[in-house]
This record gives sequence, C-alpha cells and structure tokens, in this order.
Amino acid sequence: MTPLPPGSTIGILGGGQLGRMLGVAAAQLGYRCHIYAPDEASVAADVAAEFTCAQDDDIPALEKFADACDVITFEFENVPVAPLRAIAGRAPLHPPVGALDIAQNRIAEKNFARTHGGTPAPFAEVTDLASLSSAIAQVGTPAILKTIRMGYDGKGQARIKDGDDLEACWDIVGQQPCVAEGFVTFTHEFSVILVRGQDGEVRYWDTPHNVHEDGILAMSSSPAPAEILEHQDAARALAAKMAEAMDYAGVLTCEFFATADGPVFNEMAPRVHNSGHWTIEGAITSQFENHIRAICGLPLGDTGLAAERVEMINLIGGNAEEWQALLSDPANHLHLYGKGESRPGRKMGHVTKLFF
Ligand code: AMP
Repeated sequence: MTPLPPGSTIGILGGGQLGRMLGVAAAQLGYRCHIYAPDEASVAADVAAEFTCAQDDDIPALEKFADACDVITFEFENVPVAPLRAIAGRAPLHPPVGALDIAQNRIAEKNFARTHGGTPAPFAEVTDLASLSSAIAQVGTPAILKTIRMGYDGKGQARIKDGDDLEACWDIVGQQPCVAEGFVTFTHEFSVILVRGQDGEVRYWDTPHNVHEDGILAMSSSPAPAEILEHQDAARALAAKMAEAMDYAGVLTCEFFATADGPVFNEMAPRVHNSGHWTIEGAITSQFENHIRAICGLPLGDTGLAAERVEMINLIGGNAEEWQALLSDPANHLHLYGKGESRPGRKMGHVTKLFF
C-alpha cells in the first residue's frame, strides 16, 4: 500500500460539522480537502480548499469531483449509493460503498450484526398499518417505530405504548417502511469507535458512555463505568468482525445498549461519530486524524486517552449562545460549527473537558 503523499486532495461527500472536523485534521497532515454537498451553506466548505455544490445524484458533477480527488470519503451516511457505484474506479472510496448500503437500511444493518454474532433488539418489518399491528404483537410494548431509511437523531421515530392508536403512530413516521423495535431495558448506552487501516490493523478508542436526551446525544464521557466495561470485549469483537467483513478502511462506530443479557447492538455509523468528538483533545490521536490516516494509507496513530477522564457535552439549539460563559472556564475546549441559524435539536457545537 503506497501512502497518499501530503499535498494530495481528499474528497469529502457531505458538508456538515463532521466534514469540517475531518477537514481540519486533513489540513494538519498537509492534505487539501474538496467538499461535495448539495447545500450552499455547508460548514465543512468554510475550512476546505475546494467546494462543489451539487446534488448527490448529479453524476456528471460527481464524475468531475472524483477526477479532481486522490481519495474520496463521506461524512454523511445517507449519500445515495447508486451514483457512487456509477463513479467507482475514478478515485478510491473509503470506507467502501457496501458499508453505506448496509448502514442506510436499519433492517439490513440489524441482520448484518446478527450474522456476525451480535444481538439487536427484537424487531419486525412494517410496511403498512396491518403489518404494524402484527409487528407490535410480535415485539411487544413499549416499542419504537423507526423509518428503515433516513432516520437520525431520533427523527423518523414514534414511541408506542400499550393501547396507543397505531394509526396515529403510522402517521407520525409518514406511513413509510419501518422497523418496529421492542424497547430495550438498558443500564447505559455506549459506543465502540474503531479505526481500521487498509492493511487490516484495528485500533479502538476508550469506550465512551453516551447519554441521550430526546433521542439526541447529549454527553459522552470516557473511561466508561464498570457496567459498560464488562461488555466492551464482546462489543469490540462484533464491531471488528463487521469491519473485516466489509473490508473496511476508516473509522467505524457501533452503538450499543448495556443490558443484563449482554450488549445489544443498536446501529452502526460508517464514519466518524459524535460520541467520538472528545478524542480531539482527549485522545493521543483523534478519530478525525485517524480516519484521514486510514483512508490515505498512513500508519494509524495512538488511540490512548490523553487524560484520566474526558467529558464532551453537545451544544444543541440555543445552548451554543452560552459560548462566552463556557469560555470563562479556561479548561473548556469549545468547538462551534459555524452554523448560522440555531434550531431546536440542531447540533451547533460541543465542549470538551479533560480531568487529570
Ligand atoms: P437511534 O436513532 O436508533 O440511535 O435511537 C436514538 C435513541 O433512542 C437511542 O440512543 C436510545 O436512547 C433510544 N432508543 C432507540 N432504540 C431503542 C430501543 N429499541 N430501546 C430503547 N431505547 C431505544
């Protein structure tokens, strides 16, 4: 494997904060970034050398973009797969398109985890109102109804209690193909964040304990408590097997629930992940830098903790307006994503604190 030399161009599909933080890490290693995103107001483009603003299925624009890049990656997992397959061969793509294909479909994702020895929540496919009622009979209540495609941060989801009006729930999710999941009784949520090199080397960051509010990540901290660490080996083994099966290069994140019966697989993200933002200051090498190293064929950096304890808090909606108060604590590392308009539930930034 010949490493991509500094000065080469990394193409990033998607223009959000993950692309922005990847762009900063790439620049530090001497690379140029070219962002491809459909929205003119793409915060990743603010820190990149080049920006193509075009739709995700605009094949001529994608071809031109690919021809201008030495390697391509993505920061958004809902990039349509067919146009990417159409430009295959113009530039290497890491992680592979197959990983996107699996991650874009909640049922494919759960079956994939199961094939590799993982345990997802009990689930059943829902295609219409009649199958919703049989799915709920199968998985029980409480349950969560999630759209099979395009859901994130709790969007496209409805919680169902015993006696709820199923027709109203079916309307909440927009009458789209869904998966009904039994509600998992868990003590904690956590994620495995690994990086896999093109040579198959795998490194893991310390497992973060993740706290969600309203379906959105609120806080991640590391090291995790004993109730999570007892599940770490099994969860890491599953994530590594899945990565190997996909012939994966880059950062892969798998989210889990810690339960009395072991780790329950929730979902995977074939990309850098919000629960790994603490690694920028809190690990020897961040998830962003190691993703760039992996896709460029460079040796992977040390993923060890850089402090005794690290805590990352998301700044969601109006919380980012407290930036001055946050900066009054000199130990806070403030990250703002440069998004103009704050809306409820929108991730505007995060703050990381290291404890020694
Ligand atoms: P997701 O979009 O699948 O990551 O769901 C967002 C959040 O909703 C998760 O992080 C959990 O806090 C909660 N959640 C999702 N699915 C389940 C489930 N089957 N049982 C219990 N809680 C869940």
